[in-house]
Amino acid sequence: MAEFDPLQFCMPGVKALHPYEPGKPISELERELGLTGIVKLASNENPLGTSPKALAAMRAALDETALYPDGNAFALKRKLAEHHRIEPNSILVATGSDHILEMVARAFLGQGRSTVISRYGFAVYGIVSQAAGAEIRLAEALPPDHATQPYGHDLAKMAAAITADTRVVFIANPNNPTGTWLGKPELTAFLEKVPADCLVLVDEAYFEFASDFTQDYPDGSALLPRFPNLIVMRTFSKIYGLAGARVGYALAHPKLVEVLNRVRLSFNPNSIGQAGATAALDDQEHLQRTLKLNHAELPKLDAGLKAMGLKTIPSVCNFVTVDMGRPGRPVFQALLRKGVIVRPLDGYGLPNHLRISIGLVEQNLRLLAALKHVLGR
Ligand code: PMP
Repeated sequence: MAEFDPLQFCMPGVKALHPYEPGKPISELERELGLTGIVKLASNENPLGTSPKALAAMRAALDETALYPDGNAFALKRKLAEHHRIEPNSILVATGSDHILEMVARAFLGQGRSTVISRYGFAVYGIVSQAAGAEIRLAEALPPDHATQPYGHDLAKMAAAITADTRVVFIANPNNPTGTWLGKPELTAFLEKVPADCLVLVDEAYFEFASDFTQDYPDGSALLPRFPNLIVMRTFSKIYGLAGARVGYALAHPKLVEVLNRVRLSFNPNSIGQAGATAALDDQEHLQRTLKLNHAELPKLDAGLKAMGLKTIPSVCNFVTVDMGRPGRPVFQALLRKGVIVRPLDGYGLPNHLRISIGLVEQNLRLLAALKHVLGR
C-alpha cells in the first residue's frame, strides 16, 4: 500500500508553505538544555508582563468559562470605540491580529488574485497569501545603506507592483523585523494611488512604541474616513502584555468589517481574552510604565550593540535588529546555550541579522554580556 502522504493532496499553496517560525518558548529551552533563569528576548512581548487590572479581570472571567463568550464582543468593542472615537461597527475583533490577516485572506484572496508585500515585511502576510493560493508580488525594500530606513518598505516600488488582480497590499508600520516606519505624507500619497478594489492593510502592532519615539509617525485610523479600502490593524499582544490571551483588532469601513465578520470563526476572541483586553485599555499606568522602560532601554541596548562594533537598524519599536557581520544562527545557538533567547532572521532573508526584544534592565545587560562572550569581544 502506498504510504500516506497528505502533502500530495493538500492545496497547492499549502504544499509550498514554510510554517511561521515563532520565538523559542522558555519551557522548550529548559527541556532541551536543562537550564533555568532563561531570558527570552525573542517575541517582542512586554517585559513588565500583563497589566494587573487585566489580570484581575481575566481571573474573574474564569468563573464563566462554562459559558460561550459574547460572540459580538460587545464590552470590548464599546471600550475600543471610546478609545478610538469610532463607531463599534467599524471594529473587528479577533483571536490575535494574525487571525485578522487570515480573515482578510479568506475573504479576498485566492487563485487568480495577488497581494503586494515588501521584502522583509512581517512573515505572516506571505503565509496567509500563499495558503490562499494568491500570487505574491514582492516589492524590493529600501537599500541597506538607506540614510534613515534601511531595509524599510519602499512605497514607490510597492505601488508599482500593484496590478489589476491585486486585492490586498500589506504594510507593517512600523515593520517587524526591521523596526522601520513610514510617515504620514508618504503613506497618504501611497493610499491615493491604490485602486478602490484593492485593500491596504496597515498593521500597527507596534503603534504605541512608534508614536512614543517620533511625532511624525501617523495614526492610520485618522485616514479611515478618506480611504474606505484601508484596514488598520492593532494588537493587545505587544504593549498591553496579553500575547498569551490572543486578542487583536482591526478598524475599517463598516461595510468591510461586515464582509470580514462573515469569515470570522464564531465566539472569538475567547471570554478570558475579551475580559483582559477590555480591562487593559483602562490601565494607562501600565502602558506608561512600559513606554518609559522601552524609551530608556532601547537606546541603551542599541548603544551597547554598537559598542561591540555591530550595526543596528534604527528602530521605533520594542526590539532592535542587528547585523552580526557573520551568520546569525550560530550566534543565536550560542546565546541559547547561555540561556538567552533572541530571534534569528535567516527565514526573512537576513541571514546575518538577529532581532532582540527590549527586556528589563537586567535582562538587556545579560544579553549584552552573553553576546560579548559569544563574539569574543
Ligand atoms: N503584526 C506584526 C507586525 C507583528 O509583529 C505581530 C506579532 N509578532 C503580529 C502582527 C501578530 O500579532 P498577534 O497575532 O499576537 O496579535
